[in-house]
Amino acid sequence: MDALPVFLIVRNVRCLVAGAGEVAYRKARLLAKARAQLHIVAPRISEQMLELLQEHGGSLERRKVTEDDVAAAQLVIAATDDLQSNEDVSRWAQGRGVPVNVVDQPALCTFYMPAIVDRSPVVVAISSSGTSPVLTRSLKELNEVMMPARIDRLAVLLGSMREQVKRRITDFAGRTAFWENVLESEVPELVYAGREEEARAALERILGGAQQQTGEVWLVGAGPGDPDLLTLRALRLMYRADLVLYDRLVSKEILSRIRPDAERIHVGKGPDMHSVDQYTINDMLIRHAREGRKVMRLKGGDPFIFGRGGEELTTLAEAGVNFQIVPGITAASGCAAYAGIPLTHRDHAHSVQFLTGHLKDGNLDLDWPALIREKHTLVFYMGLKSLPLVCDQLRRHGMPAATPAAVVSQGTTRQQQVATGNLENLPGIAERAGIKAPAITIIGEVVSLRDSFAWFEG
Ligand code: SAH
Repeated sequence: MDALPVFLIVRNVRCLVAGAGEVAYRKARLLAKARAQLHIVAPRISEQMLELLQEHGGSLERRKVTEDDVAAAQLVIAATDDLQSNEDVSRWAQGRGVPVNVVDQPALCTFYMPAIVDRSPVVVAISSSGTSPVLTRSLKELNEVMMPARIDRLAVLLGSMREQVKRRITDFAGRTAFWENVLESEVPELVYAGREEEARAALERILGGAQQQTGEVWLVGAGPGDPDLLTLRALRLMYRADLVLYDRLVSKEILSRIRPDAERIHVGKGPDMHSVDQYTINDMLIRHAREGRKVMRLKGGDPFIFGRGGEELTTLAEAGVNFQIVPGITAASGCAAYAGIPLTHRDHAHSVQFLTGHLKDGNLDLDWPALIREKHTLVFYMGLKSLPLVCDQLRRHGMPAATPAAVVSQGTTRQQQVATGNLENLPGIAERAGIKAPAITIIGEVVSLRDSFAWFEG
C-alpha cells in the first residue's frame, strides 16, 4: 500500500487552494463541505469560485501564490495551470511538513484526494494511488449504484442507539453480534423505505431480546423483461428474500438475479391457465410471512398496473402482515421506449390511457365512445387475442381506419418484435408476423413517429 487512507477533520482548519479554475473549484467545494476555512489564491477567479466563497465564506487573493500563503496553511491543494507554481507550492509545503496535493501530479503529492461517494455520515473513499483516476471513477459509480440512497439515515439511526447499546451489552463481542443481527434484520430495509419510526421500534425490540424475526412480504415489480430495467431496490431485495413467488412474465434473466439459496415458486398465470389461483397465492404469502420469512412476490412490470397488486395488499393488510411495495417499469413504458413510440407528444397526443383487452366470455366490456378522443393514445394490455375485436369496435365507433397502431411483443427483451399498421390492417399484419404473447397494442398518432426515428430499425 502506497498511502494510508485516513479521513482528515478539517473543520475550521485553514486550507489553501492555489488556482481557481474548474478543478480547483471542485476541490474547494469539497473542503467547504467538510467545513474547512478556505483561502483561495489565483490571478483570475472564476464566477463559480466567487459564488462558493460567498456562500461558504473564506478569503481570496487575486495574485500568484507565494510561500507565505503556504506557510499560513495547514493543508494545501495546488491546482494552477502553471507547472512551476505547482512545483513551488509542493516544495514549500513539504519543507514545512504541511500536507499537499497537486492535482494530476502524484509525484508532487504527500496525500491523494480519493473519489468519494458521499452519503454523510457514510462516506466511501476510493483511490488508485494516483495510477488511474478513470478507474477510480468507475469504482465510484459502482458504489453510487449499489449503495442505498438512505444509508445516511441508517447510519444516523444506528449512531443514535450506540450509547444505549453500550450500556445494555457490556462485552465487545456481544455488541458486535448485536449489530450484525440488526443489519440482518428488517431494520435497514425499513429505513431505506422511509419508515424510520418502525425501524427504530424494531431495533429496540431486538435490543429488548425479542429476537424472533418478523416476516414480511415485498410486492415487487420486475419490469417488462430486460433485467437492466429492474430498480435498485428490487435488485437489493432479490438478494435478501428467503422465498420468491414469481409470475410467468418474469424473465429467466431476472430470476437469475435472485439469491441462489432462496426458494422459488412459480405461481404463473397465463392468459388461459390459472396454475395457482389468487386465493392460494394470497394464502401462501400470509402463511410464509407468518413463519418469519422474507417473502418476495415478484411480478412482471408494475405491481399496481393490471397486476392484482391491490388485491394482494388488501389481503395482507387484513391479515396484519407487514409489506412493502416496489414499483416497476410497466410494459407500456418499457415497450414504448424500446420500440421508439412516445406515448404522449406535444403535437400528437396529450393523454394516454391504459386498458385491458382481456376477454370475458369472448367479449370486451368497454365504453367505446369514450375511448375515441383527439390526441389520445390507447395502450391495450393482454390484448393479442382481442386485437381484431378492438380494432373493429374502435372503427365502428368512429375512429378513422387509418389511425396508426402497433403491437409490441416480448418488449424490451432480445426477442422483442414490433408490428405496425393501422386499425384496418394491424390484426392481419400481426398474425402474419407470428406475433406472440405477451404483447401490448398501442393505438394513436404517436405510432407514426416511430418511422421518423430511423435509428430504431431492427
Ligand atoms: N403488471 C404488468 C402487466 C401485467 S398484465 C405491467 O405493469 O406491465 C400482462 C400483460 O402485460 C400482457 O398480457 C401484456 O399485454 C403486457 N406485457 C407484460 N410484459 C410485456 C412485454 N415484455 N412485452 C409486451 N407486453 C407485455
